[in-house]
Amino acid sequence: MKMAKFTTKDFDEMFPDDDACLEWLKNLRWPDGIHCAKCQKITKFYKRAGLKVYACEFCGHSVSPTAGTIFHKSDTPLRSWFHAIFLMASTKTGISAKQLQRELGVTYKTAWRIFKQVRKLMDENINPLTGQVEIDETYIGGKRTGKRGRGASGKSIAMGMVERDGNAIAKIVPDIKAKTLIPLIEKQVAKENKTIVFTDELPSYNNVERIGYAHEIVQHAAKQYVRGIAHVNTVEALWSTIKRGIDGVNHHVSPLYLQSYLDSYIYRYNHRNDEQPLFQSLLGRVSTPRQAEQLS
Ligand SMILES: [Zn+2]
Repeated sequence: MKMAKFTTKDFDEMFPDDDACLEWLKNLRWPDGIHCAKCQKITKFYKRAGLKVYACEFCGHSVSPTAGTIFHKSDTPLRSWFHAIFLMASTKTGISAKQLQRELGVTYKTAWRIFKQVRKLMDENINPLTGQVEIDETYIGGKRTGKRGRGASGKSIAMGMVERDGNAIAKIVPDIKAKTLIPLIEKQVAKENKTIVFTDELPSYNNVERIGYAHEIVQHAAKQYVRGIAHVNTVEALWSTIKRGIDGVNHHVSPLYLQSYLDSYIYRYNHRNDEQPLFQSLLGRVSTPRQAEQLS
């Protein structure tokens, strides 16, 4: 993946301490200055020593840059949060809560809470896929590599949809029946003239054409892997990256948390060509203007 680099040195220079993080957060939330709810105008706000708030120069009305963000009411230093986001965004295959615990020097409980919150930032709604879309399912988690219908005990099933040269979506599904897979396709893939869906010969995909998509099938059982533009190699490559990540970094992923692991891989995948380093785009998601609450 090519991704703009944001190095450890960059991080240390930009965020030397908690105050620098808070200042950055303030500028993110109020890029055009803070409108004082009491004075009813844009005034200068000053950092209040020892507190995570800024106060209006005239009336003392305070605002908290962390209100409404994942950092609010957390005892963990802001810089540790920023560091966690940096670590989770910077490593290609992801980082486990256990590694976060070591890097941040916090308890496992705290590391896990931070981990879950940061992964939530990676959960995004993307536009329905279009163009050439490859669809495939796979078994992940558990101890052994499984194949459809056998050796799959303890594993979860993931369904992946990948737009060639575009975005991907991956969902944990209860089974590979048509009544499970087809509604997901209809929800995530646009029915447009230019959309072509590529799958293998799994019978559950038989109705893809009937419900309104152009559909090309590769016969994997007949050792056919590429037929013209028909193949599912892109989604299969994505599965191997995800599996390497889960096996190599996150040894014990409970099925309950697999979806959020998938979300974090998919987030990195969908942002692989970003100009802005992933770390900064993630930080930009910690709050939205609508969440900017003012505290008195
Ligand atoms: Zn004021």
